[in-house]
Amino acid sequence: MSTPLRDSYNRPIRDLRVSLTDRCNFRCFYCLPHGEPPIAPKEQMLSYEEIEYVCDIFVELGIEKIRLTGGEPMMRRDIEQIVYKLAQLKEKGLRDLALTTNGYFLPHRAQSLKDAGLDRITISLDSLKRDVFRVMTGVDVLDRVLEGIEAAKQAGLSPIKINAVIVRGHNEDEVADFASFAREHDIKMRFIEYMPLDSGHDWSREDVVSGREIRQRIEEKFALRALDVVRGSETATRYVFDDGAPGEIGIIAPVTEAFCGACSRIRLTADGQIRTCLFSTVEHSLRDIVRDGASRSEIIDFIEAVVMKKEPRHYINDPGFVAPSRSMSFIGG
Ligand code: SAM
Repeated sequence: MSTPLRDSYNRPIRDLRVSLTDRCNFRCFYCLPHGEPPIAPKEQMLSYEEIEYVCDIFVELGIEKIRLTGGEPMMRRDIEQIVYKLAQLKEKGLRDLALTTNGYFLPHRAQSLKDAGLDRITISLDSLKRDVFRVMTGVDVLDRVLEGIEAAKQAGLSPIKINAVIVRGHNEDEVADFASFAREHDIKMRFIEYMPLDSGHDWSREDVVSGREIRQRIEEKFALRALDVVRGSETATRYVFDDGAPGEIGIIAPVTEAFCGACSRIRLTADGQIRTCLFSTVEHSLRDIVRDGASRSEIIDFIEAVVMKKEPRHYINDPGFVAPSRSMSFIGG
């Protein structure tokens, strides 16, 4: 194996997020508030063969964790096929193959994902109340997502992680309810601060519920104990319940407590662009290099050069901050 990828700040790059599609069947107001922008033509999207090929190279370069995302990754046809292919990379050094989904397709597909070799799953769930869920996601399918969570559990994709983006005026009053849900269902609950990654560019600082406030809201009901683990490149600060109940709490606070110093992530968009930061304003076309017939070693040189350009940090809190033009659904959350 080659030396692991490192950026110019000496951060090892171990995590790759691969977006399988820009398409999504939800309309979360903090991501795609004005509906889906025109999606890229099919020929611009990486094929499964191309994804498999470049992921093989990434794993050779030291990537240990691949997370499939989107858009809604389960809208890509036969996702089990690519899960199966990527799972074979575990023989070459991949340690963890995960998927982030809105859960809509899970009731009938959780088992086939597990059978194909998926290790872990993260399911987005912004509210436990039907009306709030509908307003936040644009679709009235809370029961189906809850069914999907249950199906994932039955399929053995545990421990299941749930992502909830907490936005002022929408669901901050549900934070403690989510903590109860985590205890009841033995779930790793992840609370995420609202980031300026919405396609409508309507984000405002007043809408952000800070990680600190989220923790306070939980502690009004349940005492938490910080997990005694080295955080490393993890996005979440993790806690367990002090009374020993099952479940776990993670708080992801990129806006108020940035964790860029230990970032180990890069992203590959569905149309084959490498992004070195969620907030990058530039992208690097791996697709063009691959389609122009570059050799494996030329592709490796390209990836290494791109990684050296990884930004030191994001600039959300700086006066001149410019949000990326593509929303989270295009970047691959
Ligand atoms: N469709 C899948 C899903 O819903 O999980 C995967 C893609 S989605 C873009 C990945 C994650 O990004 C979701 O948990 C979503 O809530 C989160 N997300 C999207 N826009 C966000 C924003 N503006 N701020 C914080 N998180 C966001």
